[in-house]
Amino acid sequence: MSGQKAIFPKARALRSFWASRRHVVRGLGSHSASNPRVCVVGGGPAGFYTAQHLLKGRQDVEVDIYERLPVPFGLVRFGVAPDHPEVKNVISTFTQTARQARCGFYGNIHVGKDVSVDELLRAYHAVVLSYGAEGNRTMGIPGENLDGVYSAKDFVGWYNGLPSNRELNPRLDCETAVILGQGNVALDIARILLSPIDLLKKTDITQRSLDVLAHSKVRRVLIVGRRGPMQVACTIKEVREMVNLPDTRPEMLPAEFQGVTEALKVLPRPRKRLTELMARTALEAPTEEELERRRKASRVWGFRFFLSPLEVLATTSDPARVTGIRLAVNRLEGSGEGARAVPTGEVEDVACGLLISSIGYKSLAIDAAVPFDPRRAIVPNTMGRVQEAAGLYCSGWVKTGPVGVIATTMNNSFDTARTLMEDMDSGVLDVSAAKPGSLGVRPLLEERGVRPVTFSGWEKIDAEETRRGKADGKPREKLLDVGEMLHLSRT
Ligand code: FAD
Repeated sequence: MSGQKAIFPKARALRSFWASRRHVVRGLGSHSASNPRVCVVGGGPAGFYTAQHLLKGRQDVEVDIYERLPVPFGLVRFGVAPDHPEVKNVISTFTQTARQARCGFYGNIHVGKDVSVDELLRAYHAVVLSYGAEGNRTMGIPGENLDGVYSAKDFVGWYNGLPSNRELNPRLDCETAVILGQGNVALDIARILLSPIDLLKKTDITQRSLDVLAHSKVRRVLIVGRRGPMQVACTIKEVREMVNLPDTRPEMLPAEFQGVTEALKVLPRPRKRLTELMARTALEAPTEEELERRRKASRVWGFRFFLSPLEVLATTSDPARVTGIRLAVNRLEGSGEGARAVPTGEVEDVACGLLISSIGYKSLAIDAAVPFDPRRAIVPNTMGRVQEAAGLYCSGWVKTGPVGVIATTMNNSFDTARTLMEDMDSGVLDVSAAKPGSLGVRPLLEERGVRPVTFSGWEKIDAEETRRGKADGKPREKLLDVGEMLHLSRT
């Protein structure tokens, strides 16, 4: 990202930015100099929910959110599928939080690069790390870097307008795509690959990716998992969307559902309903109407089970390009959620020209001074208190690992906010001495030529995106260029 960051060497421009902030940044002046000041790193759901709970819980606390990108909302903007607009309604709650007088938003600040966590700890009474999971787990198999192989993180970032993925231009010039992983992200990608283009046109998917998808040759998407139908990580809503996706038909192997019908009655309710839906789709004879719909469908989707990736395949004539995936055939040891996939020794090759690995996101360390557990890829913590680091807290995916939906993130962020307030009340966190908050960070950023984007700056970007989208009947057309975002935010 640093390459995309606009540097403003002219100290005068920066001075005028901060001078203009003096009227709106609360702090020295409108509130007591000894108000507890909390800094939140990351402007995704965890950051906003933590700020919301702190601001509601204590009338004296002031919270500043520092976000790497010029635009807020993290994966709500760059992860959630464009055809799930209802999920993005949380943005209005986040906006209300950001507009509160005791909340500041500073976009375009890469914590760990532009300002260190130690520097933030000197300026604030507490720092909450809420910077999500921006890395991804790799398969660790030969051929992983071949042309036509992408991580789900990059593919999702591409269709959702993440600036760093805008040049991805995935190759969709093949008939079959394989997605490794069976979570909701895998299903989002399958749906985006197979949705009729007219359905996507009315969403906030970027025009650039819409153009590529409109020329896609992909007609068949296989969603592959190492365990069985009773262990998939997706939820029923996403499977139902696949079952009902216009112009598609399912392709499953009944043999992979052996024993599933008998096992249904002992499954807990949500798992039972999900498994029933998959088993019905795979095993039951369709109604006349459904049969007709399937007959007319031009695209195919399906789950494949008990398969783990061994090697990405290419041909000698084109050794740089994926042509298939070699998979180990597994059997299950144990049952239920805890069942283990054990290789049988057999292998299966599946031909494909597009391979997307959707095996999980992963948090990264952002600052050498911050404790980080590389094995679990989280900031080690006890109920949100970062271990052996006074004043440091964490919430969201960097606290728990990349699991759960926005509601899960909300709950664990509220928990962290509660922990922090308990520490203020009990004196574990000393808030008696005055701290300067953003005004203490200001000279550091000025010195480094970094100019933040405020929430009103984001609102200018938002207005322009909405204006551009309106012309095409879309909720917004996202800007893809950080330079353009910065320029607009300052008009
Ligand atoms: P994030 O949302 O990733 O936010 C972290 C923020 O920190 C980002 O804005 C990032 O730019 C910023 N940041 C990173 N590093 C730094 C730094 N060094 N300095 C400053 N800022 C930094 N949940 C649902 O409920 N419904 C869905 O439909 C849904 N779809 C999803 C689709 C995908 C592809 C993914 C990956 C997740 C989806 N989720 C969905 C889950 C949901 O997005 C997460 O629960 C939630 O976003 C986690 O919040 P977070 O704040 O921890 O992380």
